Amino acid sequence: MAEPDSEPEALAPPDADDLGSPGAPKVRLQPPGVAFTVEGWSIAGIETWLRIPEFSLAIDVGRVAAPALASRHLALTHGHLDHAGGLPAWLGLRRMGAMPPARVYLPAEMMTEIKTILAAWERLQGVGFEVELFPARPFDRFSLGSGRSLVALPAHHGVPALGWAVIERRAKLCAELLGKTGPEIRALREAGHVVSKHEEVTLLAISGDTRASAVDEAPALRDAQVVLHEVTLLDDRHPPALAHAGNHTHLHDLRGSAVAAEAGCFVPYHISQRYGVTEARALLQAELGPRFGDRLLPLLPARDPPSRRRSAALAADKSSCC
Ligand SMILES: [Zn+2]
Repeated sequence: MAEPDSEPEALAPPDADDLGSPGAPKVRLQPPGVAFTVEGWSIAGIETWLRIPEFSLAIDVGRVAAPALASRHLALTHGHLDHAGGLPAWLGLRRMGAMPPARVYLPAEMMTEIKTILAAWERLQGVGFEVELFPARPFDRFSLGSGRSLVALPAHHGVPALGWAVIERRAKLCAELLGKTGPEIRALREAGHVVSKHEEVTLLAISGDTRASAVDEAPALRDAQVVLHEVTLLDDRHPPALAHAGNHTHLHDLRGSAVAAEAGCFVPYHISQRYGVTEARALLQAELGPRFGDRLLPLLPARDPPSRRRSAALAADKSSCC
């Protein structure tokens, strides 16, 4: 059979222009009222990577993104290529830059395969990677330093998968000492009084790829300062059943869901390339705007990149949800 002259658009990778110049994140969000930023890029089935520079934390590495190289910690949500396929190159570039060993956290069930993949690539390269791998199960904790912890969250994606949260331990002045001056509090402390107690604040929670039911098991997806949740499909042309077949979340699944109910900010991400940016914003705003108001902050670029062009073939495709 003769080869087709060109690949169908639905299968085409992003255009070169879509990769961005090195060092330039595609989207940078500054959620109101928090002291950290969220950088990244996420198109369902194509590529997801995120970075919180203040925590030296990257989440997923679907393709190597220069800004994410600086992160010491990398939390993988699952093994699909658009989320983890860039791992060997990410490690290789970090090694080339003489960066300290990366700390990579991943679903425990992925350990054997990831070790095999990395060992094979070390043999192909003739050099080793500088990396520590940490297998994780739901609610395992890992230190990020500076009083912060990375916590694994349950996810339901048909393959081993996790969400992640960042929790910060803070000292809080005892209520009975409110109104006292600094020197007074210091004097009490030096006299042996307990002047503060510790509390934990959930700064950030991210769902990973999952069905929307994960929020029932992960309070962090309800009350983190910033909640990121995947929303792969957005309307009835691509109905919930199509999203669920891929173990993804449909926008309609969020009706009545507790996701981000007590969050400072809600960031929908992992939106299918079936939707143009303007259209995606309108659909998200119509469904979620009344509920979240200016707390809604979709992870979308300002304009359509070439890979987000909707094609008739893609829009009509009912075989894949991405
Ligand atoms: Zn996936």
